[in-house]
Amino acid sequence: MNSSVSIVIPVYNELDNLDELVNRCREVGDRLDREWELVLVDDGSRDGSSDRLVEAAASNPDHVKAIILNRNYGQHNAIICGFSHAKGDIIVTLDADLQNPPEEIPKLLEEIDRGNDVVGTIRMDRQDSLFRRLASGMINFMVKKTTGVMMHDYGCMLRAYRRPIVNAMLQCRERSTFIPVLANSFAKRTAEIEVSHAERSAGHSKYSFMRLINLQFDLLTCMTTFPLRLLTWVGVIISCLSVAFGGVLLILRLVMGPEWAVSGVFTLFAVLFFLMGVQFVAMGLLGEYLSRVHNDVRGRPRYFVDSVHDHTVLAGTTEISILENTERRLVHS
Ligand code: UDP
Ligand code: MG
Repeated sequence: MNSSVSIVIPVYNELDNLDELVNRCREVGDRLDREWELVLVDDGSRDGSSDRLVEAAASNPDHVKAIILNRNYGQHNAIICGFSHAKGDIIVTLDADLQNPPEEIPKLLEEIDRGNDVVGTIRMDRQDSLFRRLASGMINFMVKKTTGVMMHDYGCMLRAYRRPIVNAMLQCRERSTFIPVLANSFAKRTAEIEVSHAERSAGHSKYSFMRLINLQFDLLTCMTTFPLRLLTWVGVIISCLSVAFGGVLLILRLVMGPEWAVSGVFTLFAVLFFLMGVQFVAMGLLGEYLSRVHNDVRGRPRYFVDSVHDHTVLAGTTEISILENTERRLVHS
């Protein structure tokens, strides 16, 4: 028997995409010669997506599960929630907006069957704005340099993981995660394949400029503490340069006389502002790490599950857990 597959999809205000998404995933799943399930996680949608997911779970009792979070916790937390409900030996993630065609899933599974722990994808002919593509290019370069894991496209969420990798990720308690980087830190063998990329089928991107910035800091802080060390070095270099600069100013003052020194006031201001700028950047960066440490220390759960609609395991019942980890009750549907 081939190993089973869970397809995990985070959903946030994707009502117009859901029917097609579920249909296409079902077609792909039925063609696989293995057990499969679709785990849909509603990340606090306000457009009725959650009701549609509950319907999908009820009308596809063999394969579809819906997990409804009580509010919006972000794409990566929603995926982690999906991981914790997925039962498959292989877990595939993709986006709900159909930018990642579900038809590419068999290619990912082939790579896993070849012995890879994680399979990433490179979006061919990527259908996103120039700004997004440039930002991604920069980030992928940075991740490659700092993790040493050679993958080309960390932003594409069409990915496959073996169960032990997902279990390892579930054991990580940090709240700010960037799943592709986290997975690679546990993987021994990784592969990357090219997949097609479509325009968003309906709706609009859920990442505003500020959310994108936040995601990049999540990525940075989850990946490395190198920038903190860099700060020390930048500080040391700037201090040395400032001492040298002070020396030069002193010599010039002695050689050129006091009048010259007064007109040098503006240079001093320029240097001062530069140093202040560097300090603020450094403090900001410290703040980013600190706020994440603070969040982790508080140890609040990453998300709260409102309800689980899983007819695949509990035929005829719908499991409702108002606050997962604290209270669970079973309701007959
Ligand atoms: N998403 C989510 N919670 C969020 C934001 C996004 O679950 O807070 C989901 C969204 O429904 C989609 C996927 O994450 O399935 C990727 O989001 P989107 O397509 O907006 O990102 P983009 O393609 O613009 O990077
Ligand atoms: Mg998208």
